[in-house]
Amino acid sequence: MAESKVLTEFYHLPEYQTLAGYKAKGGYETLHKVFKMQPQQIIDEVKASGLRGRGGAGFPTGMKWGFLPKNNEPRYLLCNADEGEPGTFKDRMMMERAPHQLIEGMIISAFAIGSKKGYIYVRGEYVYPIQCLEKALKEAYDAGLLGKNILGSGFDFDLDVYRGAGAYICGEETGMISSLEGLKGQPKLKPPFPAVQGYLRKPTIVNNVETLAAVTYIIRDGAQVYRKYGTEKSAGTKLFSVSGNVVNPGNFEVPLGYPLMDIIMKECGGMKPGRKLKAVIPGGSSAPVLTAEEVAKANLDYESLAGLGTMLGSGAIIVMDDSQCMVDMLGVLTHFYAHESCGQCTPCREGTGWLNKILHSILEGRGRLQDIDLLIKVADNMKGKTICALSDAAALPVLSFVTKFRDEFEFYVREGRSKVKGTTYAEMH
Ligand code: NAD
Ligand code: SF4
Repeated sequence: MAESKVLTEFYHLPEYQTLAGYKAKGGYETLHKVFKMQPQQIIDEVKASGLRGRGGAGFPTGMKWGFLPKNNEPRYLLCNADEGEPGTFKDRMMMERAPHQLIEGMIISAFAIGSKKGYIYVRGEYVYPIQCLEKALKEAYDAGLLGKNILGSGFDFDLDVYRGAGAYICGEETGMISSLEGLKGQPKLKPPFPAVQGYLRKPTIVNNVETLAAVTYIIRDGAQVYRKYGTEKSAGTKLFSVSGNVVNPGNFEVPLGYPLMDIIMKECGGMKPGRKLKAVIPGGSSAPVLTAEEVAKANLDYESLAGLGTMLGSGAIIVMDDSQCMVDMLGVLTHFYAHESCGQCTPCREGTGWLNKILHSILEGRGRLQDIDLLIKVADNMKGKTICALSDAAALPVLSFVTKFRDEFEFYVREGRSKVKGTTYAEMH
């Protein structure tokens, strides 16, 4: 198998970023087909394609659209471009290289769900992608591709970019909606799901950048062509962000079901010279870690990774070689989640803080052997009890790291230094 460039086919062309360059490769042509279709036909085609949300949860896109109430209430389309999951940088590339691809996907999706107003919520740190999007939006408005009566179709759609302020939790859809409403960006209990009650209490569809971009190709070529890629339950291609100890890190678009080992060895050119694969986090920092033996059995689809007790998530593959200290690595993750918890739920607010404190006491040479089981106990108590998924996301890496690499944690407690590096935390940093 090899890379399959559906969305990224023209990303190597600098002019693809502009309206002229995008149109030269067939951009916006699908709109002519779309405006001759009934909105329900588009929803049905997206359902038939098997497209699943590319932000991380993998929820079927067409089904989500189908949850909208059948009434004439105004409804909103929000693009989740908050991309905060550690290791994930695919949406950034998409917005930089092909902002019109996202805009076209949003026009089609808005037409399908009957929305006249959309927002692209982008994480605040993404200054350059925001500039690319704003430039592209102006080009699209000037060309009559946004605003009133798009291409004479009678369909109106307005689209704005909204810049977040850098909180990870604003990537959670209800937190994002609160932030967009000018409130504190904290998640809310679901149900009601945004599809029923979202932005300004109105029905709202929240989809990831890659999901919305894929809609154009599904409508252009038809669901069955899209289904030629991937597996029966995980259809299509997906962008994976690979980082860590590989020769050639970056974003790669491959069909779902692609062997994890192939993306590391072929697309990324393998491990750094002289190093051996030790472990991989396959789906962003929230996904449980896989050992090298498990990596050899893993395919990049929802089912294969779930079968190995982990998840595809946002498609961020973090590769670690035999020079990586797993205690130190987990310390980075626990610090991240403790910092990003919004603090509403006690198990998350206290749990993330305690995980980080216990882990750092081990790293700083003050750990006790019973602290290793305490980490497991605290993490176990954080699962399935909170408003949003952050608490589980913080607990899962702890459980997998400690269970699969327990010898490194025990060595660290006993010796006060890393088994792999041979040094203390202070010497490592
Ligand atoms: P979720 O499973 O709760 O929801 C997924 C989507 O389906 C949501 O849009 C939700 O509204 C919708 N949905 C689910 N059931 C529904 C129903 N009955 N009716 C209507 N809509 C319904 O997951 P989530 O909390 O939105 O996302 C969690 C995932 O986000 C994690 O798995 C993680 O991988 C990912 N994540 C990604 C990033 C990133 O940067 N891309 C950052 C953090 C987390
Ligand atoms: Fe906030 Fe954590 Fe509760 Fe999510 S789980 S709402 S991040 S406290």
